[in-house]
Amino acid sequence: LPDKPARTRFAPSPTGYLHLGGLRTALYNYLLAKATGGQFLLRIEDTDQSRLVSDAEESLYRDLQWAGLTWDEGPDVGGPFGPYRQSERLPIYQVHAEQLIDSGGAFRCFCTPKDMLKHQQYCQETNQPMTYPGTCQALSPEESEERASRGEAHTIRFNARDADPSPPFRDLVYGNFRRNEPQDSRILIKSDGFPTYHFAHVVDDHLMGVTHVVRGAEWLITTPFHVSLHNAFGWDLPEFSHVCLLTDMNRQKLSKRNHDIGVASYREKGILPSALLNFSVLAGWHAGRGPEVMTLPEMVERFSFKFTKGDAIMDFGKLPFFQ
Ligand code: GLU
Repeated sequence: LPDKPARTRFAPSPTGYLHLGGLRTALYNYLLAKATGGQFLLRIEDTDQSRLVSDAEESLYRDLQWAGLTWDEGPDVGGPFGPYRQSERLPIYQVHAEQLIDSGGAFRCFCTPKDMLKHQQYCQETNQPMTYPGTCQALSPEESEERASRGEAHTIRFNARDADPSPPFRDLVYGNFRRNEPQDSRILIKSDGFPTYHFAHVVDDHLMGVTHVVRGAEWLITTPFHVSLHNAFGWDLPEFSHVCLLTDMNRQKLSKRNHDIGVASYREKGILPSALLNFSVLAGWHAGRGPEVMTLPEMVERFSFKFTKGDAIMDFGKLPFFQ
């Protein structure tokens, strides 16, 4: 365990209901913060407005509170602090994106969705990977500024051309990691003014003083891009720990859209929170010697970085208390 208090966060997108994988991520973050005398933050990542599920946020608060995973800072629902809801922080992302434009780390892109579609078709026909063609990277700062001030619709993209194509980093679970392909000039701010997840969460992790990012292994592959963003700002990196995914017997990742495997459905079936917490905590972490059934304070006491790699495969149907 780190010798300084860890500031961790659980950062769900309310695009579906909390499932066991999400509960376990929240739990690991909670345990790491509490085991080191740090803080556990809750941040709602609601920047993809087209995918929001109306009652997902409410349901999430209920699930976390039911499980006893109370946050020290986060949305002001039953907790004293906050709010950390990304849709309410848009000016912060805009200011940071403009800072990157000024330093050459980002550029405004006026390519329309139609232009991009044409480029995509071209890439498909010529069997090339679909990466940004670089059209607007050639614009002078004056022209870019002028078109933006005329109100021309645009996105803001990361300038991958001038960045380390594949910055290395060390993951506390997977070890040294480097992706073997060049990065793309991905979108940071969409034309509707909302940031992408990649950009918003990097800015927030820095501004919120997050020391440890513990999240599902599906994000390992895009972490080099997150590292590039931290580097472009000159910020220190948080520690990354990507934990194995929980999958079903068909090796499918659990889906937030499937209510039947949601925490709420177990809650409604009368399953005790401690049963669900004990089940989740050992799916990808082991407690060493000692009893395998623990209260939440006992988990805090025994928590460590003994994660396992690879998928934890669960057959939910066969477990007696999930039937
Ligand atoms: N908003 C992302 C999700 O719901 C969180 C990823 C992260 O923790 O950085 O999966």
